[in-house]
Amino acid sequence: MRKTILITGASSGIGRQSVKKFQSEGWNVIATMRKPEKEVELNTLDRVLVTRLDVQDQASIAAAVAAGIDKWGQIDVVLNNAGYGLMGSFESITEEAIQRQYAVNVFGLFDVSRAVLPHFRAMKSGMFINISSVGGKITFPLMSLYHSTKFAVEGFSESVHYEWAKLGIKVKIVEPGAVATNFGSRSLDFHHDNSLTDYNDFVNGIMELFEKKMDSSSLCSPDEIADVIFEAATDGSDQLRYRAGQEAEEILTARSNMTDEAFLGMMKSQLGISEKID
Ligand code: NAP
Repeated sequence: MRKTILITGASSGIGRQSVKKFQSEGWNVIATMRKPEKEVELNTLDRVLVTRLDVQDQASIAAAVAAGIDKWGQIDVVLNNAGYGLMGSFESITEEAIQRQYAVNVFGLFDVSRAVLPHFRAMKSGMFINISSVGGKITFPLMSLYHSTKFAVEGFSESVHYEWAKLGIKVKIVEPGAVATNFGSRSLDFHHDNSLTDYNDFVNGIMELFEKKMDSSSLCSPDEIADVIFEAATDGSDQLRYRAGQEAEEILTARSNMTDEAFLGMMKSQLGISEKID
């Protein structure tokens, strides 16, 4: 029997590429997005149901899950992919921006999972694939809030992977490095209050590095990440974490082989960060 996957954040980047990957491998796909009325390509593909789901709107989550089950009888895999980066000096970031970052990257993932769990429990099977990041394991400056959401995704996913194992429900975590998507451009929510002059030089320096990084040819393509997601969905293993892309592999291997002191020291020297000397 054909399997069915529900994907959040399918309008762009990794989510969009995952729709194409699973569809081309013969799956049914529930491609969910905030503005399905703008979609002109995915809805021309066989076995793809494009439907509205805003992870901040619980009614839209329930409606998308119901529409998918109604069309194909069951959902086998949920790809919790919707998310974006909040960036800037912590003191500059408004309460509202913090709430939205958590609403999408953390509470949205909880709400989508909660909406599908009764269905998975009834089937005694099912899988959640949660998109974390290299940034769920290590951090860069000016991304404190984003990292804290991805660390939350890591901790949540690891804990429920024990909790749901006996119910036949699997959990997988995919950890990409930097990927060529809208993450560093349209989707980025950047804040800096220039009147906080203590931070200006630091913010300018780090943003220059970030922009160089997101423009560089060393970025992974979303296809590579979609391939890893497909492997996670189909390899039949109980493996929890999947590093996605060469950069992720390298940096996370270095992280696990080094002490805190050595790793953080290496990061500081690469970022040109020195301690204040009185
Ligand atoms: P992207 O191209 O910006 O895609 C982000 C997707 O999330 C878009 O479809 C966006 O929809 C959707 N989204 C945002 N808010 C939403 C909401 N409230 N409800 C539903 N969907 C919402 O970036 P991407 O790189 O593919 O990001 C996908 C995931 O990968 C994110 O979780 C991100 O944190 C993670 N990731 C990315 C990178 C990277 O370097 N690109 C690295 C590690 C992890 P709209 O089109 O409506 O805005």
